[in-house]
Amino acid sequence: MAGVPLHIAFDDTDSRLGRCTTHLAFKVARQLKESGARLLDYPLLIRLNPNVPWKTRGNGAVCIRVSVKDPDKVMDFVTDAVEQGSAIGSGANPGVAFFQGSEIPDALQQFSSAAMCDVLSRKMAQKVAESCGIRYHTFGNGQGLVGSVGAMGCLLKADHTFELIAYRKQENCGSLRQVDEGRVIDFSKKTFPYTFNNYDQNHRRVLIAPHGPDPVFIGVRGESPEIVSSCLPMLEIVEELEGWTVFRSNQGTNMHLLNELDLRCIKAYTAGFVRCRVKSAPYAMQGGHVLFTVEQQGSEMPAAVYEPTGLANVAASLEPGDLIEIGVGVRKGTTRHPKILNIEYLNVLEIASCYNLLNPVCKECGKRMKSEGKNKGYQCDRCKHREPNAQKIQVPKQRNLKTGLYVPTPKAHRHLTKPMQRYGLEKSDWKIAGGGFSGYYPIEPPICGL
Ligand SMILES: [Zn+2]
Repeated sequence: MAGVPLHIAFDDTDSRLGRCTTHLAFKVARQLKESGARLLDYPLLIRLNPNVPWKTRGNGAVCIRVSVKDPDKVMDFVTDAVEQGSAIGSGANPGVAFFQGSEIPDALQQFSSAAMCDVLSRKMAQKVAESCGIRYHTFGNGQGLVGSVGAMGCLLKADHTFELIAYRKQENCGSLRQVDEGRVIDFSKKTFPYTFNNYDQNHRRVLIAPHGPDPVFIGVRGESPEIVSSCLPMLEIVEELEGWTVFRSNQGTNMHLLNELDLRCIKAYTAGFVRCRVKSAPYAMQGGHVLFTVEQQGSEMPAAVYEPTGLANVAASLEPGDLIEIGVGVRKGTTRHPKILNIEYLNVLEIASCYNLLNPVCKECGKRMKSEGKNKGYQCDRCKHREPNAQKIQVPKQRNLKTGLYVPTPKAHRHLTKPMQRYGLEKSDWKIAGGGFSGYYPIEPPICGL
């Protein structure tokens, strides 16, 4: 008997106390595989708009696309697993969604695109779920439905990355993760530029291992399933692990910054990019943050670069008139301050000619003259030569800035931030090997540690 394509998505199963949505996905996928289901794609790890204020740690949702013989049984099993495996009552508000069929409806794909950069309500998620024939369950306040539906509609047909996540045995959770720093550096060098965010050279910090009590041992991100899973032998991990899986993901793709924003009608918490000119000279605030005003077709807005991004020096070198493109998240306005564009990347497109206004030089002796007062001309201190009609002169300013792209230091990266080394490596499709289903991988993912 041929199987039925079933799309399973869930979100918001974790809380700040531990538990982890990807770990639940790992366990569910393993169980499904053991009971004879066929995975149609790598499990997806989808990061949604990082500016939504009520997100959990990373705002990541998962989707598992499988071919199964008895979808009703599978849906019951997954619903139970989400209910049992979530931190309901300590901050998690899970949602789980199911869709049967080989085509993902357009409305679902559109909802997903919007979930990357906009703020969507539970009501909107319910509406699209009902119109598409999605079966769903929610627990707690049900906020997780938004991410579930958003992840399910995300086909990752264009750019995508992979992450191998290895999980610890329960008895080891909470103890120190033994990861050899030298081997991480070595792995990072050998696989460059096809893995990213393994190690932060500037701060000498291992980035693949988290520090909390959660079950993730390491997460390694890169361009292919083969390259990310090559970390396992290369890192020579001593700890006995529960298992691992390779997720296909929108991490490191800037997927949240793909749409252009219009400053005239910009919404709080949204994300996107803005092409604009620098309007006011930047100034440094306490803590090393830099603030300036930008202008786009007559509309102005403050923009901020925060110190931890490592971009503050570049921002401080901007001058009024410079043409820039910035990736931003919109910070909500309050009674004390207006909406602010929080800058995620900075692309300097055009450097304006800037001038310093200086007093004229004395024709008699060459010394710079002194002003006699407004519109009263200039006089030389040394030889007393006067020029009643002289004006200030413009001297071109030396610009200490180069055009080009500036991205944050790895330590300050969000999950969706595209690292510098990925520029030029973007994928434009997701190969369908063998045909049969449109939009996703129809064969068993070859790299799977379930
Ligand atoms: Zn003089």
